[in-house]
This record gives sequence, C-alpha cells and structure tokens, in this order.
Amino acid sequence: MLTEAGEDAATVIRLENITKRFGAITAVKDISLNLKENEFFALLGPSGCGKTTLLRMIAGFESLNKGRILLDGKDIAPLRPNRRPINLMFQSFALFPHMSVRANVSYGLEMEGVRGEELKARVDRILETTQLTEYASRKPDQLSGGQRQRVALARALVKEPRVLLLDEPLAALDKKLREHMQLELKRLQHEVGITFVVVTHDQEEALVMADRIALMRDGEVKQCASPAELYEHPNSRFVADFIGVMNFLDGEVSVEGVAVQGLGVLTGRSNGDTRTGDRACLAVRPERLTVAPSSAERLTHDNVLDGTLTDIAYHGQDIGLHIAVGDAGQVLIARLSAAAEGAADFKVGDTVQVGWQTQNALILPDD
Ligand code: ATP
Repeated sequence: MLTEAGEDAATVIRLENITKRFGAITAVKDISLNLKENEFFALLGPSGCGKTTLLRMIAGFESLNKGRILLDGKDIAPLRPNRRPINLMFQSFALFPHMSVRANVSYGLEMEGVRGEELKARVDRILETTQLTEYASRKPDQLSGGQRQRVALARALVKEPRVLLLDEPLAALDKKLREHMQLELKRLQHEVGITFVVVTHDQEEALVMADRIALMRDGEVKQCASPAELYEHPNSRFVADFIGVMNFLDGEVSVEGVAVQGLGVLTGRSNGDTRTGDRACLAVRPERLTVAPSSAERLTHDNVLDGTLTDIAYHGQDIGLHIAVGDAGQVLIARLSAAAEGAADFKVGDTVQVGWQTQNALILPDD
C-alpha cells in the first residue's frame, strides 16, 4: 500500500539523501534509508563514522545540510525535537536522582498534561512491561545498573513514541548484564511494537538484537541488511572484516578464482563485483574451514592447503586453530567444536591440511 507521498506503508521514517557537515568534516554523506514499522534497527560502525550524528538528526538536535527526513511521509524539518513523536534515550540514562522510579516514569506524561486515572494506568502498564512494578517507590541509587536502564526505557516508552532512538544503550553495563539486556531489549521492542533505532559500535550486540543493520564507515552506509545477510553475504572487505571473524587471502582475480602468491589459484563465490586481473581477496569464515592431520586421508574439498599449526586458542565450547600456510606463512584461523572428533588431539607444530568448498568462500574486491 502506498500513502499520498508514495511511501511504502511499512516505512515509518525515510531518510532521503541526508548530509551533515561540521566545518571541513562531513559526518554524514548522502545517506538514504527506510526505517520500518515495528523494526529493531541498528546503526553500526567504528568510532567517528557518523552514527550519533545521524541519530541526533532524526531526533531533531542537529540540522541537515542536505536532504529530508520524512515521518509517515511528511517532512519533519519544521518540528522541534519535543514536537516529534520520537524519543531519544541517552547513554547516561539521565534519571532524576531525588525522584522515585514511578515519579521518573510519570514526569514526561505529566509535562504533557496527562493526569489522574490515565496517568496511573499508563505508568502502571509500562512499569509492568519493563518488570519494574516492585521497584516503583525506590530511588535510582537503590537500583542495579540493569534496573536503572529499564527505568530509562520505561520513561522513554511511556510516551508511546512512534520511534525510540537509543545511543549506545548498553555501554554503561558490564559484559554479563549487557548480554542479558540485549535479549531483554529485543523482547521489550517486540512487546511494545515500537520501532527501535540503536546506535552501537559492537557488532555482536547488533547481530543479537537487530532485525536489520546499517553498517557505516566515514559517514556512509556501506551495507544495510539483516544480520544473517551481512554475515553470509558481505558486499565488501570492510563489511566482511567488521562483522565476525574472517580470513583473507590477497591475490589477483583469474578465470578460475583468485591467484594467491605461493598458494596457487583458490576458489570462492563471486558476487560479480570483480573482473579478471583485479586485485581482490578470498574471504572465508573460520567455521567454514575443515582441518585434518597431514597423516590422515587427503581431504576432498575444492581447495586444500598444507600448513603448520602455530597456535591453539581455547574458547570453551570451541577451539581456534591458527594454521600457517604457504611460503609467506600466512595464517588462517579455523574454528571447530571442542567436542568434535579428534579436536583435542591437535598440537602446536603439527602439520595439517586445511580445506574448504568453493561455495563457502567469497571473492571480494579490494576496498
Ligand atoms: P562514536 O562511536 O565514537 O560515538 P559516531 O559514529 O557516533 O562515533 P559521530 O559522533 O556522529 O560519530 O561523529 C562523526 C564525525 O563528526 C566525527 O569525525 C566527529 O568528530 C564529528 N563531529 C560530531 N559532532 C561534531 C560537532 N558538534 N562539531 C564538530 N565535529 C563533530
């Protein structure tokens, strides 16, 4: 269904060619994105790539040098931040320390003139959703980090915005709590059905939480896709490197694959972005490599290299085998389940064979 403005009905916010400059720095370069109804969207990328600036433009705290932001098909440029049905949750939570949880959550609604039964019902409902009912009369300093985070969320959600923007919402929490809150945030988003846009520099966090991720670099979106798509079909070396762990073998594109010095021609899937003679790399995930002792039967994979184990890293459930291959001693990392047959028998210094199928590697152009 299309609205008057020709929008896809599922689109809540449409960014059209937006650009933001700070003096000589272009923080956001000509970005176009559609944020959809009831979607958990992540803006991911290294420090300084423009994530926060993009978020602040949506919230209305930063002007645009170029482009438009449409909400439900209408340009929101004329709307001041507090008139936008969009809430921004700050990294620091910014709770009022002298006020109870209930008062913190009620505050924004009271400012809007909501009173009496309606106020109580809406606050009760959101306290329940964020599992804070039993802490309603506590002050922020009587809460754990995770509970404080939930109060900040409750305060933002109680106003029932169309979109909730969250800038590094889990950065202040320790690792264990952060992992717990990732799932909690995802559950909450699903329950309230509001579009969440989260800024993070942590790829694992984005993969766990988001329905879609826009991976940014130097003010540009390099790829925007689902976590699985980004992981399985990265469109560039930058994306392949940023998401998860990837092995890269540099070489030159030939008719059959990529010719890598000292290793011969290796094969992988091509996405059509490279031509014969181009500099490119062959990219393969550690879990896609098969490793066997040299003394075992020869592997039958499309690609098989001989190498030496230089390191073994234990990660609990699985182990990382570092394998030097070729004359230049390039190191490939293979990951296998610690429970796999023979996994415990590998020793540093062993000579091994490492193999992969063509379909499990990618040929990517040099960035
Ligand atoms: P981080 O993850 O470190 O917060 P980020 O991806 O959110 O980074 P931004 O904060 O959006 O990046 O900054 C993008 C670029 O714009 C950076 O080079 C930054 O130094 C610059 N920048 C941001 N805000 C301003 C400002 N108010 N004045 C000048 N330059 C700015």
